Amino acid sequence: MSAVMINAKNVTRNFSISRGMFRGKQILRAVSGVDLTVKKGEVLALVGESGCGKTTLAKIILGLLPQTTGSVDLCGQSIMDLPRLELARTIQPIFQDPYSSLNPRKTIGSIIGLPMRVQGVENSATIRRKVQKTMDLVGLAARHYNAYPNQLSGGQRQRVAIARALVNRPQIVVCDEPTSALDVSVQSQILNLLSDLRKELNLTYIIISHNLAVVEHIATRVAVMYLGRLVEEAKTSILFNNPHHPYTRALLESVLTPEPDLGIPNTQLGASYPNPIDPPSGCAFHPRCAQVMPHCAMTPPLSNNVNGRFVECHIYNDDSAENAD
Ligand code: SF4
Repeated sequence: MSAVMINAKNVTRNFSISRGMFRGKQILRAVSGVDLTVKKGEVLALVGESGCGKTTLAKIILGLLPQTTGSVDLCGQSIMDLPRLELARTIQPIFQDPYSSLNPRKTIGSIIGLPMRVQGVENSATIRRKVQKTMDLVGLAARHYNAYPNQLSGGQRQRVAIARALVNRPQIVVCDEPTSALDVSVQSQILNLLSDLRKELNLTYIIISHNLAVVEHIATRVAVMYLGRLVEEAKTSILFNNPHHPYTRALLESVLTPEPDLGIPNTQLGASYPNPIDPPSGCAFHPRCAQVMPHCAMTPPLSNNVNGRFVECHIYNDDSAENAD
């Protein structure tokens, strides 16, 4: 059985939002009671509309943002107990924009070697050797060692960002929209590189993406977020072939096809995305749900694990979940 690399339990993150002078503050619940387990070698995709809390959840898992309540364990240890440097050796981020995430005044060799120096490696020859090995691993030519970011293409810069994340050989990598800033022609190269590196280095990924084609290509499991909640989680093939939650169905139906005769897809989403400061009561999806029922005014329970799938919807409550699959 694969080891559990990430175990998040009942994670909540609140932000205090000012409503203006004399009007006090209001609480924005960006992440609300999320449970998440990621095993070694898995690629878990977090999907959902902007503002659903996926980036906040990723930042909590990276140790960049403290959770308000709940716990996160990495490789069996609470992130609260992990020293900063050990946390950085265990988990690393790759951000979406390779243009702004690289220091334009530093050479590629210096950028990729920085995490080694942060970890206390001082021997220049050791750093150079490891950096060159990692550049080779991500498909960057040795001649780029002394180049600057503005001398590279977008795809090459993203390879630099990947090399920087991997130079200390972390076990977990969080990729936030790893291809969204790239030309379509290089997106698949970067996705294939990430897949190859996962196998070669035995990595575990969390991928945040709006692009469901990317998710279907690379993820082994998908977690769908809506207004800070995980509303459905399943293996990628199961979720794409037979989505259960009405929101997951709407997300999949919103994908544009290359066939112009099919027109703009109708997602059946009745209303716009609600204000996260004032979320709807009961099932937060109910104002937009095509299958809303009277008892959706109450918060739905999370269904039992059936074939590795969890759904937070009254249609798939514990009694009917067995039949629903
Ligand atoms: Fe729709 Fe009700 Fe399910 Fe919410 S609980 S997704 S409103 S059917």
